[in-house]
Amino acid sequence: MRTNYCGELRADHINKTVILYGWVDRRRDHGGVIFIDLRDRTGTVQIVSDPQRTPESYEDANSLRSEYVIKIIGRVCKRPEESLNPKLPTGEVEIYADKIELLNKVNKQLPFLVSTSDTEPVKEELRLKYRYLDLRRDRMSKNLQLRHQVVKAIRSYLEDKEKFIEIETPILTRSTPEGARDYLVPSRVNPGTWYALPQSPQLFKQLLMVSGFDRYYQIARCFRDEDLRADRQPEFTQLDMELSFVSVDDMLEINERLIADVFKTVKNIDIKHPFPRITYAEAMEKYGTDRPDTRFGLELVDVSEIVKDSGFKVFSGAVKSGGIVKVLPIPGGNETIANVAIKPGGDFYKAAVAAGAKGIAYLRVKEDNKIETIGAIKDNLSLEQKQQLIEKTGAKPGHLLLFGAGSIEIVNKSLDRLRQVIGNHLGLIDPDKISLLWVTEFPMFEWNADEKRLEPLHHPFTAPNPEDLDDLKTARALAYDVVYNGVEIGGGSLRIYQREIQEKVFETIGLSMEEAYNKFGFLLEAFEYGTPPHGGIAYGLDRWVMLMAREESIRDVMAFPKTQQASSLLTDAPAEVDEKQLKELFIASTYDPESE
Ligand code: ASP
Repeated sequence: MRTNYCGELRADHINKTVILYGWVDRRRDHGGVIFIDLRDRTGTVQIVSDPQRTPESYEDANSLRSEYVIKIIGRVCKRPEESLNPKLPTGEVEIYADKIELLNKVNKQLPFLVSTSDTEPVKEELRLKYRYLDLRRDRMSKNLQLRHQVVKAIRSYLEDKEKFIEIETPILTRSTPEGARDYLVPSRVNPGTWYALPQSPQLFKQLLMVSGFDRYYQIARCFRDEDLRADRQPEFTQLDMELSFVSVDDMLEINERLIADVFKTVKNIDIKHPFPRITYAEAMEKYGTDRPDTRFGLELVDVSEIVKDSGFKVFSGAVKSGGIVKVLPIPGGNETIANVAIKPGGDFYKAAVAAGAKGIAYLRVKEDNKIETIGAIKDNLSLEQKQQLIEKTGAKPGHLLLFGAGSIEIVNKSLDRLRQVIGNHLGLIDPDKISLLWVTEFPMFEWNADEKRLEPLHHPFTAPNPEDLDDLKTARALAYDVVYNGVEIGGGSLRIYQREIQEKVFETIGLSMEEAYNKFGFLLEAFEYGTPPHGGIAYGLDRWVMLMAREESIRDVMAFPKTQQASSLLTDAPAEVDEKQLKELFIASTYDPESE
């Protein structure tokens, strides 16, 4: 039996005899003394073998190669002074191997080096194809262990401190209302009918509230068949929660305590709470986005009023046609940002254009608070307007003012983008800082221009703010998102539990009661039997862990992720199936490769 894991051996273990199992991380021959770094999931420890001190194991040690699987029995010894390694947790000791047993060899050439000491980047395709080897490496092994720690902390906090219980909900189910495309599973037993994989446990968790479970959570797998833009996965994990008899404040407070507890337990980091709360309207105004990264400043300022009558057509025209003009003021920008970067072809110019802007107009505030206007703006702003701009944006000598003009959406989108790239460029983002905040009071609906109708921003069970019931179309929702370093990691809402309001919401999104009953009849019926007021939230667990691991992709915190094409390079899923299977399911493909 194993006595210890490799990574846990310390000076305290000196003189003990240990039995270890693991993989040969590296083997080095130093003039007749063989050193082996033995690795398991906890780390590595140095094994030593030489003909004098460990004659019995020397032959075996000599024949080992990278990634061989071995068992060793040995004595823990203090390393000689000159080979102490303070960087390695086990760096004070080494193990004299009395016996080495080879359990398995490597029979093929390794596709890449697995060693912990190897920092060479490996192509992601290769990592995904040989994921089992990639997971042996230090980075992924640490990430998955972190993920486990996070989930464990979540479970124990919610269960032990807040009286939640975990309940599993079905995977083979009906379409849920999160608005993405469903993954469908044909039913053999009920020919011609289909299950949908859950996009979230939304409907079931609300039913559980009707059932009186009061506080539910689940680490739930969710499936959304989306075009995999950005960093999405077809299946991902939510921390899903639902609670009865709570207000928005209760919801936010419980979740703040949860998040703070996870950071403390897993990373020993103290997170101050309550977190700042900002309304959706304020977030859009100040940052141009509903998930602001508040680790740095650079807030946007709306100057539409000042420039709406100016002679500069780009500005006045934008305001007249219902748009806006906003400024991103950059302190010291005259020094740090050159004209070439913001003129056509420049990096920042390109970033703004990629986000939909036609270009960037800019002003530089000079030493004596005089404004240097460039290009077309030059003669088209009055002295007074320039003065007002300085006042409104709080600009000081040295400031660079970048303007966005046009539709509200594009101005916000492009200035948000610029704010981020410039924040990065100027080194304003401290990677050690953690910014957590709530965005509240989202609008109930957004306009779907393609379908020419309002659709729920969250989902159709989200409750409107009771103050806004007179005009549901423009109502604010009792919905909230939690944003971590500019990434939305969770979102939820209080739910509608009164029939009249639910009917009004369906009406507003152009869903007849009949259609609604077809889709969610079982939930609406359940609501007739005594429904408590309730609300919930769901976190994208992968994203949360990704940020804690300081990774850039959720693939790096998932054991077996899929590619951007939604396929697995390891198993080759999705794959074709036997004709016989399709027949049993009454399915024939209409796919025609020729028509691609
Ligand atoms: N079901 C929602 C989602 O997956 C979250 C919630 O409202 O609880 O985004």
